[in-house]
Amino acid sequence: MTDSSPKLLEIVPLLEAIVGERNILLHPESYLYDETPKPVRPEAERNVVVVRPASTEEVSRILRLANERGIPVFVRGGGTGLSGGAIPTRPGIVMSMERMSRIVEIDEQNLVAVCEAGVTLRQLLEAVEKVPGLSFPPHPGDESAQIGGLVANNAGGARAVKYGVMRNYVLGLEVVLPSGDVLSLGGKVIKNVTGYDLMHLIIGSEGTLCVITKAILRLIPEPGATYTLVIPFDTTAEAIRTVPEILRSGVVPLALEYMDIEAVRAGERVTGKKWPYSGGKAHLMIIVDGGTEDELMHKSEVIERVARRHGALDVLVGVGRREQRDILEIRSLIYEGLKEETIEVLDVSVPIGSIAEFVERCQDEAERLGIKVLHFGHAGDGNVHQQVLRWGFEGDEWVESYSKFKEFAFGLARELGGYITAEHGIGMVKKEDMARTMPETALTLMRAIKRVFDPNNILNPGKVIDP
Ligand SMILES: Cc1cc2nc3c(=O)[nH]c(=O)nc-3n(C[C@H](O)[C@H](O)[C@H](O)COP(=O)(O)OP(=O)(O)OC[C@H]3O[C@@H](n4cnc5c(N)ncnc54)[C@H](O)[C@@H]3O)c2cc1C
Repeated sequence: MTDSSPKLLEIVPLLEAIVGERNILLHPESYLYDETPKPVRPEAERNVVVVRPASTEEVSRILRLANERGIPVFVRGGGTGLSGGAIPTRPGIVMSMERMSRIVEIDEQNLVAVCEAGVTLRQLLEAVEKVPGLSFPPHPGDESAQIGGLVANNAGGARAVKYGVMRNYVLGLEVVLPSGDVLSLGGKVIKNVTGYDLMHLIIGSEGTLCVITKAILRLIPEPGATYTLVIPFDTTAEAIRTVPEILRSGVVPLALEYMDIEAVRAGERVTGKKWPYSGGKAHLMIIVDGGTEDELMHKSEVIERVARRHGALDVLVGVGRREQRDILEIRSLIYEGLKEETIEVLDVSVPIGSIAEFVERCQDEAERLGIKVLHFGHAGDGNVHQQVLRWGFEGDEWVESYSKFKEFAFGLARELGGYITAEHGIGMVKKEDMARTMPETALTLMRAIKRVFDPNNILNPGKVIDP
């Protein structure tokens, strides 16, 4: 807390009475920002109190207090978000969920994991790995993200092409409303059509409707072993036009990722590892899974035939664990490798049949505007990541070209039947873009929903949509 805002000073002793003195932090430096690239992230408000509750009851008492006094509350998970969602932008409370990190149970009978919102993805994966035969497939890139944050963002990741996104794995939620009321939704059931689906409304609500305190997550039988294919092409068009045909071939890959060669180079630089093929302008990285070697071989051969028909320069099949891990690591760390030079990572969603047109037209536009945009990402599900770079610009010179490029990419995505964000969310950085690209009727309904859940606008105010 940087100044003596009377409203905030007054509640410090009341918050201490709820969570204990040790769990109030008045120097919030490491709780202010998330992973949103610096050039586009909002300025954090430093006049905040960080509170670290350990139970649903404490969350409820904090929210009731804040609601009565009209004090903003910014919920913080792992802080890995890419849209500024967890950044406090007004004086208020940052509620960090890190102490609610208990895996309540892995219920083998019902194939579910029950965990508190502050459990990290890494923690959950390790716990599930210990139970033979079970797995939790969603794998958004950063394992320090928390379950609450993953649900609040409806996170996706590379495996979504086969196994879906977070939403497909949430069976139940415990949430706390701004009033302090605790609500349990769903449960250990697969089917439930009892009234409006409030649980699915909350999934993806980015901390603006309620605080998620617990989640019941679906587990599935372990898919088996994997092979990782690296397929280089001379042109983007050839690589991307291969994608829909692979998806029509009868093989559903576990991951189907597209990468410009310069993106691959960035991953190599940061990992110190070598990609298996040095030439080619555009690469596909495809992971197949299966129960037997024969199944894996068959899937790889089908993909190879399709790729070669589209001009693949080679098809390299990684079979060994280490070899596959290295390839995946290079792919996973592309963002990290370019972080300092990045203006923004766009993540539009387009129908899979339109990916090639989207990427080619964006590449032309970027060239026309003189701005460097690397394309990579989850091509198999139509989610194209575009890492827009500062290369060639001094100071703030990039602003105009970047704004024009973003407007073009978002407009094109909508024209092709897609959306401006597939998994990173609206947060603060895409709020105006959402208002510009969504129908007014949808925005009116969103505003009304926000008012019903949060009539005093205390939860993550200023993010996603204004009431
Ligand atoms: C290297 C890297 C790779 C990534 N790869 C992917 C990817 O492949 N796919 C993908 O989808 N995302 C990806 N992300 C983005 C990020 O990991 C996800 O958005 C993730 O869901 C954020 O979770 P978090 O716990 O870090 O949330 P935070 O960043 O802490 O918060 C994100 C939003 O969720 C809200 N929130 C957090 N916890 C709660 C809660 N308990 N209750 C209510 N609201 C809450 C916050 O208020 C905020 O609005 C990546 C990020 C990085 C840095």
